[in-house]
Amino acid sequence: MIRNWFFPGLLDTGPVCDRLVAVRDGFVNLYVFRAPAGLVCIDAGWRPTRVRHGFALLGLDVRNVAAVFLTHLHWDHARGRDLFTNAQVFVSEHESPSFLGGRRKPAQPLTPVRDGQTLTAAGVDVHAIAAPGHTPGSVAYLVDRRFLFTGDTLGLRHGDAVPFRACFNRDGTALRRSIRKLAALSGIERLLTAHTGSTVDVGTAFRRWRGAGADVPPQERARP
Ligand SMILES: [Zn+2]
Repeated sequence: MIRNWFFPGLLDTGPVCDRLVAVRDGFVNLYVFRAPAGLVCIDAGWRPTRVRHGFALLGLDVRNVAAVFLTHLHWDHARGRDLFTNAQVFVSEHESPSFLGGRRKPAQPLTPVRDGQTLTAAGVDVHAIAAPGHTPGSVAYLVDRRFLFTGDTLGLRHGDAVPFRACFNRDGTALRRSIRKLAALSGIERLLTAHTGSTVDVGTAFRRWRGAGADVPPQERARP
Protein backbone atom coordinates (compact mmCIF):
# COMPACT_ATOMS: atom_id res chain seq x y z
CA MET A 1 0.00 0.00 0.00
CA ILE A 2 1.26 3.46 -0.91
CA ARG A 3 -0.11 4.69 2.38
CA ASN A 4 2.13 2.34 4.42
CA TRP A 5 5.22 3.12 2.39
CA PHE A 6 4.79 6.87 2.44
CA PHE A 7 3.32 7.30 5.91
CA PRO A 8 4.23 4.32 8.08
CA GLY A 9 2.53 4.40 11.45
CA LEU A 10 -0.62 6.18 10.29
CA LEU A 11 -3.36 5.27 12.74
CA ASP A 12 -6.65 3.65 11.86
CA THR A 13 -9.81 5.19 13.25
CA GLY A 14 -10.09 4.16 16.90
CA PRO A 15 -9.05 4.92 20.46
CA VAL A 16 -5.48 6.09 21.07
CA CYS A 17 -5.64 6.24 24.84
CA ASP A 18 -7.74 7.57 27.66
CA ARG A 19 -9.87 10.49 26.35
CA LEU A 20 -8.21 10.58 22.94
CA VAL A 21 -9.23 9.01 19.63
CA ALA A 22 -7.79 9.09 16.12
CA VAL A 23 -9.83 9.45 12.94
CA ARG A 24 -8.19 8.46 9.67
CA ASP A 25 -9.13 10.31 6.51
CA GLY A 26 -7.10 8.55 3.81
CA PHE A 27 -3.43 9.29 4.52
CA VAL A 28 -3.93 11.76 7.36
CA ASN A 29 -5.06 11.55 10.97
CA LEU A 30 -7.07 14.05 12.90
CA TYR A 31 -7.52 13.62 16.62
CA VAL A 32 -10.46 14.07 18.95
CA PHE A 33 -10.02 14.81 22.64
CA ARG A 34 -12.95 14.08 24.94
CA ALA A 35 -12.89 17.23 27.04
CA PRO A 36 -15.09 17.70 30.12
CA ALA A 37 -17.62 19.87 28.28
CA GLY A 38 -17.45 18.59 24.70
CA LEU A 39 -15.10 17.43 21.99
CA VAL A 40 -11.94 19.19 20.86
CA CYS A 41 -10.32 18.35 17.52
CA ILE A 42 -6.76 18.75 16.39
CA ASP A 43 -6.99 19.22 12.61
CA ALA A 44 -10.05 18.47 10.55
CA GLY A 45 -9.20 16.08 7.72
CA TRP A 46 -10.21 16.88 4.17
CA ARG A 47 -13.27 14.82 3.21
CA PRO A 48 -16.28 15.66 5.36
CA THR A 49 -18.13 12.42 4.51
CA ARG A 50 -15.12 10.30 5.56
CA VAL A 51 -14.60 12.28 8.75
CA ARG A 52 -18.28 12.06 9.63
CA HIS A 53 -18.14 8.30 9.04
CA GLY A 54 -15.12 8.03 11.35
CA PHE A 55 -16.97 9.89 14.07
CA ALA A 56 -19.98 7.59 13.66
CA LEU A 57 -17.75 4.50 14.00
CA LEU A 58 -16.57 5.87 17.32
CA GLY A 59 -20.05 6.82 18.51
CA LEU A 60 -19.22 10.51 18.32
CA ASP A 61 -21.27 13.36 16.88
CA VAL A 62 -19.57 16.13 14.92
CA ARG A 63 -22.11 18.57 16.37
CA ASN A 64 -20.51 18.09 19.79
CA VAL A 65 -17.16 19.47 18.65
CA ALA A 66 -16.67 22.76 20.46
CA ALA A 67 -13.29 23.71 19.03
CA VAL A 68 -10.99 22.73 16.16
CA PHE A 69 -7.29 23.61 16.41
CA LEU A 70 -5.65 23.52 12.99
CA THR A 71 -1.92 22.82 12.95
CA HIS A 72 -1.72 24.53 9.55
CA LEU A 73 -3.86 25.20 6.53
CA HIS A 74 -2.75 22.53 4.08
CA TRP A 75 -5.89 21.08 2.55
CA ASP A 76 -5.51 17.58 4.00
CA HIS A 77 -5.59 19.04 7.52
CA ALA A 78 -8.05 21.89 7.11
CA ARG A 79 -10.54 21.36 4.33
CA GLY A 80 -12.84 19.26 6.54
CA ARG A 81 -13.33 22.04 9.05
CA ASP A 82 -16.71 23.17 7.73
CA LEU A 83 -18.14 19.89 8.99
CA PHE A 84 -17.89 21.20 12.53
CA THR A 85 -20.64 23.77 12.43
CA ASN A 86 -20.78 24.30 16.20
CA ALA A 87 -17.04 24.71 16.63
CA GLN A 88 -14.76 27.68 16.88
CA VAL A 89 -11.85 27.07 14.50
CA PHE A 90 -8.35 28.22 15.45
CA VAL A 91 -5.24 28.67 13.34
CA SER A 92 -1.99 30.64 13.60
CA GLU A 93 -2.19 34.34 12.91
CA HIS A 94 0.79 33.79 10.57
CA GLU A 95 -0.79 31.13 8.36
CA SER A 96 -1.93 32.12 4.89
CA PRO A 97 -5.49 31.15 3.88
CA SER A 98 -4.13 30.74 0.34
CA PHE A 99 -2.90 27.26 1.37
CA LEU A 100 -6.51 26.14 1.49
CA GLY A 101 -6.94 26.60 -2.24
CA GLY A 102 -10.30 26.76 -3.97
CA ARG A 103 -12.73 29.63 -4.06
CA ARG A 104 -15.22 28.33 -1.57
CA LYS A 105 -15.87 30.71 1.27
CA PRO A 106 -15.42 29.08 4.69
CA ALA A 107 -18.62 28.40 6.63
CA GLN A 108 -17.17 29.94 9.74
CA PRO A 109 -14.36 32.43 10.36
CA LEU A 110 -10.92 31.33 11.50
CA THR A 111 -9.87 32.56 14.93
CA PRO A 112 -6.17 33.47 15.13
CA VAL A 113 -3.93 32.01 17.84
CA ARG A 114 -0.57 33.39 18.95
CA ASP A 115 2.61 31.63 19.99
CA GLY A 116 2.48 30.88 23.72
CA GLN A 117 -1.25 31.45 24.03
CA THR A 118 -3.23 29.05 26.23
CA LEU A 119 -6.94 28.72 25.53
CA THR A 120 -9.54 26.76 27.41
CA ALA A 121 -11.84 24.82 25.08
CA ALA A 122 -14.71 22.69 26.44
CA GLY A 123 -12.89 22.64 29.78
CA VAL A 124 -9.44 21.57 28.62
CA ASP A 125 -6.32 23.72 28.27
CA VAL A 126 -4.81 23.97 24.80
CA HIS A 127 -1.42 25.65 24.56
CA ALA A 128 -0.25 26.91 21.15
CA ILE A 129 3.44 26.63 20.24
CA ALA A 130 4.57 28.25 17.01
CA ALA A 131 6.51 25.70 14.95
CA PRO A 132 7.27 27.37 11.60
CA GLY A 133 9.07 25.53 8.81
CA HIS A 134 6.62 23.18 7.16
CA THR A 135 4.49 26.29 6.63
CA PRO A 136 5.16 29.77 8.05
CA GLY A 137 2.21 29.49 10.42
CA SER A 138 2.51 25.88 11.55
CA VAL A 139 1.58 25.37 15.19
CA ALA A 140 1.99 22.49 17.61
CA TYR A 141 -0.60 22.15 20.35
CA LEU A 142 -0.09 20.89 23.88
CA VAL A 143 -3.46 19.62 25.11
CA ASP A 144 -4.22 18.99 28.78
CA ARG A 145 -0.53 19.72 29.44
CA ARG A 146 0.44 16.21 28.31
CA PHE A 147 -0.48 15.49 24.69
CA LEU A 148 1.70 17.17 22.06
CA PHE A 149 0.25 17.36 18.55
CA THR A 150 2.95 18.18 16.05
CA GLY A 151 1.03 18.44 12.78
CA ASP A 152 3.52 18.21 9.91
CA THR A 153 6.48 19.64 11.79
CA LEU A 154 7.88 16.17 12.29
CA GLY A 155 7.27 12.52 11.60
CA LEU A 156 8.18 9.36 13.49
CA ARG A 157 10.55 6.84 11.97
CA HIS A 158 11.48 3.78 14.05
CA GLY A 159 10.57 5.78 17.15
CA ASP A 160 12.71 8.81 16.28
CA ALA A 161 11.40 12.27 15.49
CA VAL A 162 12.49 13.23 11.98
CA PRO A 163 11.74 16.33 9.93
CA PHE A 164 8.70 16.11 7.72
CA ARG A 165 9.59 15.23 4.13
CA ALA A 166 11.74 18.00 2.73
CA CYS A 167 9.87 18.49 -0.51
CA PHE A 168 6.81 19.65 1.43
CA ASN A 169 8.58 22.11 3.72
CA ARG A 170 8.75 25.84 3.16
CA ASP A 171 11.88 26.36 5.30
CA GLY A 172 13.98 23.38 6.42
CA THR A 173 16.21 25.41 8.76
CA ALA A 174 13.21 26.88 10.57
CA LEU A 175 11.68 23.40 10.74
CA ARG A 176 14.73 22.00 12.55
CA ARG A 177 14.67 24.92 14.95
CA SER A 178 11.02 24.19 15.65
CA ILE A 179 11.71 20.51 16.36
CA ARG A 180 14.43 21.48 18.84
CA LYS A 181 11.95 23.85 20.48
CA LEU A 182 9.39 21.06 20.87
CA ALA A 183 12.08 18.67 22.14
CA ALA A 184 12.86 21.09 24.95
CA LEU A 185 9.33 20.89 26.36
CA SER A 186 8.86 18.88 29.54
CA GLY A 187 6.01 16.81 30.88
CA ILE A 188 4.83 15.42 27.55
CA GLU A 189 3.23 12.00 27.91
CA ARG A 190 2.44 11.35 24.28
CA LEU A 191 3.58 12.72 20.94
CA LEU A 192 1.07 12.61 18.08
CA THR A 193 1.86 13.27 14.43
CA ALA A 194 -0.55 13.79 11.56
CA HIS A 195 0.76 11.11 9.20
CA THR A 196 3.08 8.74 11.10
CA GLY A 197 1.26 7.84 14.28
CA SER A 198 2.08 8.40 17.89
CA THR A 199 4.51 7.42 20.64
CA VAL A 200 4.65 7.53 24.42
CA ASP A 201 8.45 7.17 24.35
CA VAL A 202 8.96 10.88 23.99
CA GLY A 203 12.49 10.74 25.39
CA THR A 204 13.62 8.39 22.63
CA ALA A 205 11.79 10.34 19.94
CA PHE A 206 13.54 13.58 20.84
CA ARG A 207 16.92 12.23 22.02
CA ARG A 208 18.79 13.58 18.99
CA TRP A 209 17.17 16.99 19.30
CA ARG A 210 17.99 17.79 22.89
CA GLY A 211 21.06 19.55 24.23
CA ALA A 212 23.69 21.80 22.73
CA GLY A 213 24.41 21.16 19.08
CA ALA A 214 21.44 18.84 18.71
CA ASP A 215 20.51 18.35 15.10
CA VAL A 216 19.47 15.75 12.63
CA PRO A 217 22.01 13.05 11.93
CA PRO A 218 22.76 12.73 8.19
CA GLN A 219 20.99 9.38 7.82
CA GLU A 220 17.80 10.89 9.20
CA ARG A 221 17.59 13.85 6.85
CA ALA A 222 14.26 13.97 5.16
CA ARG A 223 14.14 12.55 1.67
CA PRO A 224 11.91 13.91 -1.03
ZN1 LIG B 1 1.15 19.94 5.56
